[in-house]
Amino acid sequence: MPELPEAEANRRRIEDKCLNRTIEEAVPGDNVTYIELPGDNERARLVGRQFTETHRHGKLIFAGSKTGPWICVHLGMTGSLIPFDEGTDEQPSATKFLIRFEGDRALAFRCPRKLGWLRVVDSPEEEVERIGFGPDALEIGEDDFVEVIGGTNGAVKSALIEQKKIAGVGNLWSDEILFDVGIVPDRKANELDEDTLRKMYGVMRDRLRAVVKTNADYSQLPDDWLVRHRKKGEDCRRCGGTIRNKTVGGRSAYYCDRHQD
Ligand SMILES: [Zn+2]
Repeated sequence: MPELPEAEANRRRIEDKCLNRTIEEAVPGDNVTYIELPGDNERARLVGRQFTETHRHGKLIFAGSKTGPWICVHLGMTGSLIPFDEGTDEQPSATKFLIRFEGDRALAFRCPRKLGWLRVVDSPEEEVERIGFGPDALEIGEDDFVEVIGGTNGAVKSALIEQKKIAGVGNLWSDEILFDVGIVPDRKANELDEDTLRKMYGVMRDRLRAVVKTNADYSQLPDDWLVRHRKKGEDCRRCGGTIRNKTVGGRSAYYCDRHQD
């Protein structure tokens, strides 16, 4: 499931390929009944406009201009944004929304399964506030992180993935952060000492930045990261313990049974 690094990689593709081109058409694809897409009036707002900038907040991707409107995209489980050239490239499969720019350039919102959506909004700030997301995981300050996570009465994993606290960390990267800090996912967040929370903050930033740097290409990540061996019964590359799995807050959590406590 896409998290902050995937959203950032998708944002960069729009930034590289779709800016400063007049939008000629914005149309839904086939079989879109299960997915939230803009209606006729919203789509009409895009036509004749250009995207001149992009933005990302947590897992949300935005493209628009100073005066708006903007598209806001949530990739859901399997979504992606793919710029391509009509006539040269084939339209991606499972395209649920298509924006055609002047010339041959187009942007496909691919979303083979449920939960992704695309909206037309006035500004990123307003939409983030309307949804109620917390600060972006790469923007939040250390003291705010300590307060928000340390003030949570519940499992630390659940606190990390709660988008209303911090936006961008999901199931995969919360496990990685806890693996590196050596804390089991169901430890109570408000029982962690301040040093541990500060360390966790640094690890979160380091990990997310490193993944963003690879454009979310996990094959480039170090072999001793949990993500490379996140499977029940695998050996922990850190300590030789065993990777275990348990449900925490309704989510499947992976951890090492030896170096995490
Ligand atoms: Zn271990």
